[in-house]
Amino acid sequence: MINCQRCDSTRVVSLAAHCNDLCVVTYAGKHSEGYVPSDLGVGGGDDVEIDVCLNCGQLQGTWPRPVTNTERKAHGDVTSGRTLFLQKQKSVLENNPDVVAEVKRLATQDNAVFAIAGYLVENSFNDPERVAAGIIAVQRMKLPIVAEAVLDKFYDWDQYQFLERVVDYDEFKDYAEDLEMDQIIAAGA
Ligand SMILES: [Zn+2]
Repeated sequence: MINCQRCDSTRVVSLAAHCNDLCVVTYAGKHSEGYVPSDLGVGGGDDVEIDVCLNCGQLQGTWPRPVTNTERKAHGDVTSGRTLFLQKQKSVLENNPDVVAEVKRLATQDNAVFAIAGYLVENSFNDPERVAAGIIAVQRMKLPIVAEAVLDKFYDWDQYQFLERVVDYDEFKDYAEDLEMDQIIAAGA
């Protein structure tokens, strides 16, 4: 016998529905069909499993849930994350015009990767935003391979992770997504 977590009633009924991959989930007007999402607190995989109180209606479980994949998908994990990413890059570029100018000049040289990496090591003063500005400037010149090679030169640096997140959208995305979802949920959207 289970006691309701809210009203302590013993009138708690357990229900299990074996739907396999025919579970339809609707959130924010968007439908998806498939297995039962495991992060909604109502079972997962092949089965919907709930315990509900017949006295007060409380669905038994742990609430509130952390941000779920259903919510991430519905709100679109790309658009707002990319906006934040581009804003960050913009401020990094604007704050370091001297780095941008010099890197643009060096990028036209034969030995561009070594020239740029060398310049950034000498003139970054251990500030990852200055290094990032240089790499982003190269990316914006449509030289992605050069930019990638310069980034690789900093692989052993203790600021590498920060650097990667500022220059590489994929690295930034997970981080930004969590941030963004927290804000959306907090705003009750
Ligand atoms: Zn109850």
